[in-house]
Amino acid sequence: MKILIVDDSQAIRLLVAQCVVPFGHEVIEEETGEGAVKYVRDNTVDLALMDVEMPGINGFEATQQIRKLKGDEGWFPIIFLTTKNDDDSYTQGFLAGGDAYLPKPINPLRLQLQITAMERIYYMRQKLKQVQAELVEANTALLHLSMFDKLTGLANRRHFDQTLEKEYKLAKRKKEPLSIIICDIDFFKIYNDSYGHQVGDSCLELIGKCLQKAVGRPTDLACRYGGEEFIFILPNTHLQGASCFAEKVREAVAALAIEHSGSKVAPYVTLSLGVATYNGQYKSGEEITKAADEALYRAKEKGRNRYETA
Ligand code: GH3
Ligand code: MG
Ligand code: MG
Ligand code: MG
Repeated sequence: MKILIVDDSQAIRLLVAQCVVPFGHEVIEEETGEGAVKYVRDNTVDLALMDVEMPGINGFEATQQIRKLKGDEGWFPIIFLTTKNDDDSYTQGFLAGGDAYLPKPINPLRLQLQITAMERIYYMRQKLKQVQAELVEANTALLHLSMFDKLTGLANRRHFDQTLEKEYKLAKRKKEPLSIIICDIDFFKIYNDSYGHQVGDSCLELIGKCLQKAVGRPTDLACRYGGEEFIFILPNTHLQGASCFAEKVREAVAALAIEHSGSKVAPYVTLSLGVATYNGQYKSGEEITKAADEALYRAKEKGRNRYETA
């Protein structure tokens, strides 16, 4: 451990150091309480051995300041080494945030045992902090898994449902428009049959990236809605703006020029899209989605590789 020895007497600092160095600890010395606080502010310490009576702030005050400075997160054990052996001083020491209290003259054996005991607590705490950090990391990863589609990296259906509900409420309250665009790949079953499911998946991946790139505003969301269906949520966007966006997306996917020999509309992969915009008329986010889906159906009927509006 890195042990901070705080004592105004050089002789005592030396004596304490001689007790702990043989056990493999690293030692830093400070001769004032102020110096100890400053050192702890700028450096990491694993344990402090603290004198009480010193010129300037005493060991209790220094301990109090260190506890305030480091908080729970930066806790390390502080052991008082002092001649003040009365109950009042003991009480003061523990109230200040000390963890153990050893009387001077120093008994090297007891000092070493006390350090060993504190070391146990310190490392258990470190381990706990590490496990906690790992848990936070695992939770973040899980949250990401629960919100995003693995293949395309886009928001998944669950994320879509949550976001739509939130955006619908916002649009209703703020009396703002809210647009939904559903996209479906044309003749994708034939694509899979011609090139195989794996190439089909790669195609979905490419299109997912393309759709994500098309998204401009930070509030817009591109999602994978189902197998080869994608959906956009465009808050505060009128039908005209959403239609422009749908056309831009259609062109962007066509421009990928992914070969699709079995398609009956183009020699490359194309999208059909349905656009619907809430302007107060729909009773839920689901109703907007349903309207967009109906528009998509019309786009398919009218020959595909196009968008239609509700
Ligand atoms: P349409 O132009 O009418 O949309 O024709 P389509 O063949 O695309 O019809 P539909 O939209 O019903 O196609 C769904 C097909 O998409 C079924 C399946 O072969 C394919 N598909 C769905 N999900 C996946 C997926 O995750 N990976 C792959 N490779 N293919 C998928
Ligand atoms: Mg002293
Ligand atoms: Mg489909
Ligand atoms: Mg399709």
